[in-house]
Amino acid sequence: MNILVINCGSSSLKYQLIDMKSENALASGLVERIGIEGSVLTQKVEGKDKYIVTQPMKDHEVAIKLVLNALIDPVHGVIKSMDEINAVGHRVVHGGEKYAESALVTDKVMEDLEECAKLAPLHNPANIIGINACKALMPNVPMVVVFDTAFHQTMPEEAYVYALPYDLYEKNHVRKYGFHGTSHKYVSQKVAEEMGRNIEDLKIITCHLGNGASLTAVKNGKSIETSMGFTPLEGIVMGTRCGNVDPAIVVYLIKELGYTVEEANELLNKKSGVLGVSGVSSDFRDIEQAASQGNKRAQLALDIFHYKVKQFIGAYAATMGGVDAIVFTAGVGENSAETRIDSCKGLEFLGIEIDAVKNNVRGKVAEISKDDSKVKVYIVPTNEELMIAKDTLALVTK
Ligand code: ADP
Repeated sequence: MNILVINCGSSSLKYQLIDMKSENALASGLVERIGIEGSVLTQKVEGKDKYIVTQPMKDHEVAIKLVLNALIDPVHGVIKSMDEINAVGHRVVHGGEKYAESALVTDKVMEDLEECAKLAPLHNPANIIGINACKALMPNVPMVVVFDTAFHQTMPEEAYVYALPYDLYEKNHVRKYGFHGTSHKYVSQKVAEEMGRNIEDLKIITCHLGNGASLTAVKNGKSIETSMGFTPLEGIVMGTRCGNVDPAIVVYLIKELGYTVEEANELLNKKSGVLGVSGVSSDFRDIEQAASQGNKRAQLALDIFHYKVKQFIGAYAATMGGVDAIVFTAGVGENSAETRIDSCKGLEFLGIEIDAVKNNVRGKVAEISKDDSKVKVYIVPTNEELMIAKDTLALVTK
């Protein structure tokens, strides 16, 4: 059974073809600049040269057609014909309050996605275009949608209702949704497996630290609190997003400093975070390098980032009434030994102690806490594609 996983952005598309027997990706690829000049597809297959296709792609349907061609290419491909794609799993950013689980694509589901697009105007429309393009090219292949928000639908009311007039929630759906759910779910399940424990008995804090970053409190296998909110802007400091700030700053920017709404939005989402503080880059590798060369603002950006991660870990230990395991994942969490150490420094009173030697590792599942640390700390590389493929398989074989 092979499952094609599609993650569609407005001008890009990531894909993987996963063999569900081995749970390995047979091929993975990226299409960039869809609908604009310089469209390019890059496909990677283990043991083969990178396959690059540069040709105009006026829309996502053309892009997906080229993805299918690349997968069945006699030299660069991995399957003989499209018949070897048994199902397609689509990543969808927002499932609103309707979807606490993944779903088989039906007309009703497509209507719901259109409805949810109001809540995620930057993301859902691109996801919908991708699903429609796949449906046009593979009309008989079952498809599943897997939502970034779904895992967090188990949060209790006190976690997701903002202290705003209640009408805004009831009538306009303004509430905390949370994102990166597929990743938080995957790494929490994986760490329970690694620990040889039943996830139902565990309190886990998952730290997804990439360009976008969020933490989740996973109690007994369920998300009960997460740091991202109505949008992915809330929570900890990120590459270019500010995370939590006094909301009155937005009013101040507009009323006193003359920002337009669009400019304020751009500032908070694209020009803030560790980029805004350091003035160096949004990439943690650049910032760590600049800091090691004495750049004070780069060091400050890292200090703020680690300080916030630590505060959320403390908060989530309080939320769950304890913590058994902490998991670091995504680009920064998997790779930066410094981030892991500095985010946990001072948390010894909670029983969280990282072993500096064990921590000197990257990109693979590893326990990095001291042998006698009460709380176990792990690195678990995230694999959202595999999680999407697993959900897809479960739904199409049901
Ligand atoms: P996203 O999927 O949100 O775009 P990723 O999970 O791919 O993000 O993470 C990207 C981030 O990971 C970048 O800021 C990058 O600097 C950081 N990163 C990757 N490798 C390292 C490393 N060796 N040390 C520190 N940060 C790293």
